[in-house]
Amino acid sequence: MKDLEKKARAYALKNALSHEGKAQTGSVVSALFNEGLKQEEARRFGKDISKIVREVNSLTLIEQSKEFEQLKSLISERHGREGLPELPGAKKGKVIMRFAPSASGPFHIGHALTGSLSYLFVREYGGKFYVRIEDTNPENIYPKAYGMIEKESKWLFPGKFLKILVQSDRMKIYYDCAEKLLKKEAAYVCTCSPEKFREFAEKQENCPCRKLNVNENRERWKKMLSKGKNAFKEGEAVLRFKSPNGMKDKNPAMRDFPLARINLTRHVRQGKRYRVWPLMNLAVAADDIDVKMTHIIRAKDHRDNAERQRRIYMALGLKSTLPWTGFLGRIHLKDMELSSTKMRKDIEGGKYSGWDDPMLPTIASLKKRGYKPEAFWKFAERIGLSENDKVMDREEFFKLLDDFNRDKKIFK
Ligand SMILES: [Zn+2]
Repeated sequence: MKDLEKKARAYALKNALSHEGKAQTGSVVSALFNEGLKQEEARRFGKDISKIVREVNSLTLIEQSKEFEQLKSLISERHGREGLPELPGAKKGKVIMRFAPSASGPFHIGHALTGSLSYLFVREYGGKFYVRIEDTNPENIYPKAYGMIEKESKWLFPGKFLKILVQSDRMKIYYDCAEKLLKKEAAYVCTCSPEKFREFAEKQENCPCRKLNVNENRERWKKMLSKGKNAFKEGEAVLRFKSPNGMKDKNPAMRDFPLARINLTRHVRQGKRYRVWPLMNLAVAADDIDVKMTHIIRAKDHRDNAERQRRIYMALGLKSTLPWTGFLGRIHLKDMELSSTKMRKDIEGGKYSGWDDPMLPTIASLKKRGYKPEAFWKFAERIGLSENDKVMDREEFFKLLDDFNRDKKIFK
């Protein structure tokens, strides 16, 4: 325990010195994980670590550096850049991470800031970085987004380890995953109306479809996929996850959430080839399993989704391959419009000349205005793996981005 305390203090000092005197508990904990700290220990010593961080943060920079000189031999020398937080359990050459924009529009600064941190980890440790275009909702696709995201990914996230995937090209993977879940009795096809199902959920009662056996479910699943006369119509059937705690799960978001549905809207890329579309949690879990994702950094508003995906892994018996997940706080950029739908309307209405209009916060525009990818990487690195929300206005944001853009510090 004494050793751990000392080590925690050394890391807190190191972290504080590279962040203007303010260490973050999360970074210290991550660093300790890399030193072999166990989850249970982290839970037990969590309070002590926070206390150490508070003590360190109350010191002046001079006091911090003096004390760090005495303790620095306790911490392992790490390679790579100063500033990027430690990534728990990362193995050299084997870090697989992703960034998953939706096909509803091209990249804007929000994408650049969230995607860059994962990119930097893969760049530092080596491995694969997937940009996965999420387009399994046929109703929410901007056709030009595919080309723009691909082009901008190559600019923003350069390197041989960059791979671009389009979800709708990978439907077999989602169907296979759905069928595995059905076989393991971890999913069922529900034909209750949404209103009826909501009533069951509120009363915490099971819907009658929940007790169907494997064969009955297989029949229903076929009727979802089938294009024949007996097929289910749009809205008539949904594939649901069979939550282990059933409809009494403490978290209502876990109560037999939907995995796939029928949507007959013509898909921009796939036309009429598919009628059953996976919903986000099925598609994401199936993809992460398929590419053997090792680490995920995502917005903290996706915490429930992360838990749903974890349960899919568990139901498939894949506990040992669960990726490490870190959460990022929300960056709220005041007076900046980041909705692609809104931007698109304004472009079509003639308010802006195109996606690269200098007034727009898109990557196409910022690239044209002379910003380099490194400016976004540095920005993301500065924010780090923090769950705190940040509010910034346009002026503040661009002041920082301009500083980073001029900064000569080079990425290896
Ligand atoms: Zn039902």
